[in-house]
Formats: sequence, structure tokens, C-alpha cells
Amino acid sequence: MKEYTDLISFMRDFQTEDDCRRFLCEQKWGDGYQCRRCGHECSVKDRTWYHKRCQRCHYDESCTAHTLFHKVKFSLVKAFVITYQLSTMKKGMATTEIARQFSIKQQTAWFFKRKVQQAMKSGGTQMLFDNVEIDETVIGGAEKGSPGRSYGKKKKVQVAIEVEYPTDPSEKPKIKNANAVVIDGYSSDDLKKGIEKMIDVQALVTTDGWKAYETAVGGRWHESFPSSSGENFELIHWHIFNLKNWIRGIHHHVSLKHLHCYLQEFHYKFNRRNRIQTCPCQLLKTMTKEPWLPYKRAIEG
Ligand SMILES: [Zn+2]
Repeated sequence: MKEYTDLISFMRDFQTEDDCRRFLCEQKWGDGYQCRRCGHECSVKDRTWYHKRCQRCHYDESCTAHTLFHKVKFSLVKAFVITYQLSTMKKGMATTEIARQFSIKQQTAWFFKRKVQQAMKSGGTQMLFDNVEIDETVIGGAEKGSPGRSYGKKKKVQVAIEVEYPTDPSEKPKIKNANAVVIDGYSSDDLKKGIEKMIDVQALVTTDGWKAYETAVGGRWHESFPSSSGENFELIHWHIFNLKNWIRGIHHHVSLKHLHCYLQEFHYKFNRRNRIQTCPCQLLKTMTKEPWLPYKRAIEG
């Protein structure tokens, strides 16, 4: 996986539309051509070098077709640079900022960002192993006077962290990986769905004393503490604090409908924080494998 330490080195590889097209062609057909419609493995010359036409059924395909770059309303160079920025900037980029910096409409910027988030989701699902702590929080709306597991208009979010304990007892435990999902409620079934998405079956799961967790953890090892406040949950509270700050700070207008996309974006970068140089290339590759995302589906959430 090619590593990029800064934007200049990235832009050296992707200076022109043809540079980007070459990358897309390599990803699509580098291992050999196969017709999407009939499966035939021979192509004939088409209208440009970045189109291929099936020799048998004449199906014509461009290097952007059936990828997240299909029908993007601005240049591929811009699309590649925005992808670079979204995958490497710790705080991410608000849609308004993307629109301003790249001279595109805000709605167009939002739609493209959703596509990048889609790729982050696809390439970023992180199962957690060994020692896992789990807790819930609520995101969205005013939070004053609604402690604990209160409902309201906020979204309920289940957060899990994988804790790494040092061999040297004088050092403090730290978070290795983390993940979060939107949940419908706090019933055993709701919590179980989140656990199954995020936590390996052989992990030791630590929770607060909420009774629903007893069955929600499935067959996983489980220990619980009466309250999630206090030292036992210091790390996960710190993580939740950072997650909320990130969402509040740069993404003031996160629609709750799309909250799951932002949880993925945050954790995609968090879990890759020690190898961020590989993210742009990895994300561009994922975007060529992901099917086109229609606008109607993107706005639905
Ligand atoms: Zn064909």
C-alpha cells in the first residue's frame, strides 16, 4: 500500500485527470478484464483508453462506472484530493469547508463526503477483541436535565473500546481500537445487535450493572460493575467525550439520520491513527470497489 506523508507527495501522483484515470483503470482491470454483463474476458478498443468494450456483447464501461466516482460533478483531481483530506485530517472537514476550498456547491460537497464515508464504513468495520469495555451515550439535542438512559430526540449510541493493558504495571492502560453504533433502545435485544457488530465472541466484555447486558453479551465472558461512573470506566468516558467533541466541534449540523456515517468516519481514523499515511490509498481503492451511491439513497440515511 503506497504511503503518503503529505498532500504535496499525494498531488505529485495525481496531478491530472489522466493520472487519476490510470489509477482507476489499474484498480478495475489491473488483474484482467471481465465483462460485467456477460462475464467474457476479452475487450476491444473503445472510444478512449479509459473505456473498455466487451468483445462479445459490446457492453461499454468507463473507469468510473460502478464505482463511487461515477457521475461525480467535479474533476477527478478534486475528488482525489478531497478523499485525501477526509482520510487524513484528524478533525475531518465540514461540508461547508469542502465547498469553499474546492469551489463546489455545498450539496455537491455533502454528497461526495457521504460517498467517502460509505467507503470508510465498508473498509473500516473494526471487530474488538480481548478486553472490551462497553457503554452507551446519547448524541444530538440539548442534554441538560436528561441524565442516564433518557430518550428524547437524541440518538442512542453504543460505544465499545478495546483496552490494551501494558506489561509494565507502572504504565497506564490505553485504548487500542474502538467502535460505535446507533442503537434503537436499551433492551437486551437492542444491545445485543450492537455487541454482535462490534465485539468478537471470545472477548471479555466489561459493562456497568445494567441488567439487560447479562443476556445481551451472548456467550462472551462478562463482568459488570454497579455503576459506569468512576475509575473503572475512565478510558471509555474519555473516548465518548472526544467523540462528542469531534461531532460538536466541526460538524455542528450532523443530521441524526446520518449519525451512523459520522461514527464510522471518526472510528475509521481513530483505529488507523498510527498508520494514517496508508489511508488515502486504501480509501481510494475501496471507493473503486464500492458500487455507485445514488443521491436518493444517500439522503435517506
Ligand atoms: Zn460482455
